[in-house]
This record gives sequence, C-alpha cells and structure tokens, in this order.
Amino acid sequence: MKITIVYDNCTTKADLSTGWGFAAFLQAENAAPLLFDTGADGAALLDNMRKLGIDPGRIGIIVISHAHGDHTGGLSSILEINKDAEIYVPASTVTRLPGRKVIMAGQPLQISEDIFSTGELQGVEQSLAVKTSRGIVVMTGCSHPGVGNILNAASCHGKIYGIIGGLHGFRDFSRLDGLSLICPCHCTQYKEELKYRFPEQYVACGAGLELEL
Ligand SMILES: [Zn+2]
Ligand SMILES: [Zn+2]
Repeated sequence: MKITIVYDNCTTKADLSTGWGFAAFLQAENAAPLLFDTGADGAALLDNMRKLGIDPGRIGIIVISHAHGDHTGGLSSILEINKDAEIYVPASTVTRLPGRKVIMAGQPLQISEDIFSTGELQGVEQSLAVKTSRGIVVMTGCSHPGVGNILNAASCHGKIYGIIGGLHGFRDFSRLDGLSLICPCHCTQYKEELKYRFPEQYVACGAGLELEL
C-alpha cells in the first residue's frame, strides 16, 4: 500500500502548493487508485498531483471524509476530468452529483479489498481503516468525531499500526500509545507536543510525503 499526501497545510517538496485542507492518494496493489478528500482548491490539487505523477483520470474511488470546504473544494475539478470514479460521502452529506455513482456511508462498509470506511461517526465524518503489511493504518480528515472514537471504530479490522491525517484539537495523547506511526496533518493543533511525546513514531506530514506500508 502506497500512501501519498497530495494536499496539506504544509509541504515536503518546494515545488508543491500548500493550502488549508487535506487530500491523500492511496494506491493498493489489488484495487483501484483511491483519493481521500480533495483539499480546498482544485487547481492546486491538480497541479500537485501532476508534479507527483498521479493521473486524476485513473482514480477509481473518491472518498470524502466530511462536508467541509477544505476537504471537498477540489472535488468538482477532479470530476471534470474523471467521469467514472465511485464517490463515497458521509450519509448526512447533501450531495447532488447527477449521473455519478455516489455511496452514502452511514454504517461501516468495505470500499475495496484492503480499505474500509468507519462509516459516518458522530453524524459528521468518516475515516478509513487501511490494511497494510504492517497493520491497520487509519486515515482521518479532521477527526471531528474524536480520535478515540475513530480508533475504536477502526480497531475491528485488526491491530492499529498508525494514524495519518488531521487530528484537530486532539490532546489525549495517551490514546496513541502503542502506535508505530503517528503522522499528524492539516488542522492538527498539537503537532509539536505529539512530536515531543512520540519522537520515534512521528512523521512530519506535508504534500509530497510518500509512505510505503
Ligand atoms: Zn479540515
Ligand atoms: Zn473539518
């Protein structure tokens, strides 16, 4: 499983754009390429993807974590190029995408062989549980339902190896004890504290970060 951050508040490569928002690209060996969230700005998202060698036309699955503009802003730009991708949105999201295959994720569901949605938690947001060679990696948008609730929901798929994504105001740091990968992105307010507490596990997030798991 290869996970590439394509849109974030920070970047790891000087030629990529930054912006308040989040998007990640997941390439599984045995499933269609998946885009998780779309950042705030379509032009910046597409430009970053082009520079990272990711073809938006080949994306087979788009998952929107929640209906905030910093996660949905690039969707229309992707859909102008990509006419076929299945789109997973939280069940409470008002979605008007005529002619598109839209799946409303209420309950937990399987998206592809190794990728699962937690379903919409707390009526606001879905996260991904991704099976990798090292264990379950949780992908979050902003973690509005609470990191603990998200980890609980994802743990039914196996031992959690790591978490990647926006953690918002999360500071119940002991909840991450035992994880091997902690990659706080986007809206995470306590990045420095997480880095200090988990120096071995911490990975700095930013557009262009590529993880093979
Ligand atoms: Zn956000
Ligand atoms: Zn949000």
